[in-house]
Amino acid sequence: MQFRDLKTQYKIMKAQMDTAICQVLEEGSYISGRQVRELEEKLAEYVGVKHCITCGNGTDALTLMMMVWNITAGDAVFVPDFTFFASGEIVAYAGAVPVFYDVSEQTFNGDANSLEQAILAVQKEGKLKPRAVIAVDLFGQPAEYQRICAVAKKYGLLVLEDGAQGFGGSIGAQKACSFGDAATTSFFPAKPLGCYGDGGAVFVNDGEIAERIKSFRVHGMGKSKYDNIRVGINSRLDTLQAAVLLVKLQAFRDYELEKIHRIAEFYTDSLKGYVKTPYILPGYTSSWAQYAIQLPDSVDRAYVQKYLLAKGIPTMVYYQKPMHQQQAFALCKQYTDCPITEALCQCVLEIPISPYMELEEAEQVVTALKEACS
Ligand SMILES: *Cc1c(COP(=O)(O)O)cnc(C)c1O
Repeated sequence: MQFRDLKTQYKIMKAQMDTAICQVLEEGSYISGRQVRELEEKLAEYVGVKHCITCGNGTDALTLMMMVWNITAGDAVFVPDFTFFASGEIVAYAGAVPVFYDVSEQTFNGDANSLEQAILAVQKEGKLKPRAVIAVDLFGQPAEYQRICAVAKKYGLLVLEDGAQGFGGSIGAQKACSFGDAATTSFFPAKPLGCYGDGGAVFVNDGEIAERIKSFRVHGMGKSKYDNIRVGINSRLDTLQAAVLLVKLQAFRDYELEKIHRIAEFYTDSLKGYVKTPYILPGYTSSWAQYAIQLPDSVDRAYVQKYLLAKGIPTMVYYQKPMHQQQAFALCKQYTDCPITEALCQCVLEIPISPYMELEEAEQVVTALKEACS
């Protein structure tokens, strides 16, 4: 069994995919080809924002927003303590200080109260200038934007949605990657919408910001590529990846989301009472980037992983360490405690899920998990 079955996906799409890839090779426009623009239009339309600007990966997408917002030395950016390293890394890379806030035990997503505590602690110290809040749609469920944005507004901070795992999720009728002042996503192969390499995108409604992002992603270009009006980076989605994503986006919309929901529902129904299953807030939809369970204290996680692996079932631990405990952030002061994140890092376990998983495979996972936990 694969942790996320991308091989079956390719088998099913093979005819269409091979044609799309060959077309790029034949047309010979490998960078900024027509497929890139077509993809950007389709993504913006799907998400429900005015502008989608693709780039090299999800980390660069976040970095581009740090550049556009001129986040720099002396600034504080608030980042959930329970997330992938890049969400905080890009803040430090911009020269600013990531300030970590705790998450909700229920949703794994940033907790608005902890965020406010962290902001107040930074304000009280008076050394850093609070600038922005990053909220992460962890494991596929959108963060609680209403609450996060209310706190951000109270303190005059920008909100950046890190939707690397959130693409395809929603709150009511509003899709992920449309929340906050700007949003980003990643097309890393294992993400909800993945390409065959690295890729990412930024989503914004403001036309002027969109133009600045487009400039920053191509060496700070002005009127032309050889007119450079600012220092930027080189981060583009290549045409091959755009062609791949056009095929995959269609499948994502047509059936993949629906299929993965079916697997997630089956897990939740079958695992209730054995482990703590993911909690999706009323009105929220997850795109199930991961299916994360919490094991009871009495169960040894390493043992469960070994037991499942012996039955051919791979599992992962996302994440092993709170951000504030990463060596790279050893010099970053902790402004507020993050006990929930610390506890989650000890007990979470991610089990296989994908739109191409058969129900029988999910049954095998459930049976093995129940055995391992008893
Ligand atoms: C994957 C991921 C990223 C980075 O995306 P890349 O495309 O790998 O650079 C950023 N944030 C979160 C939450 C992620 O899961």
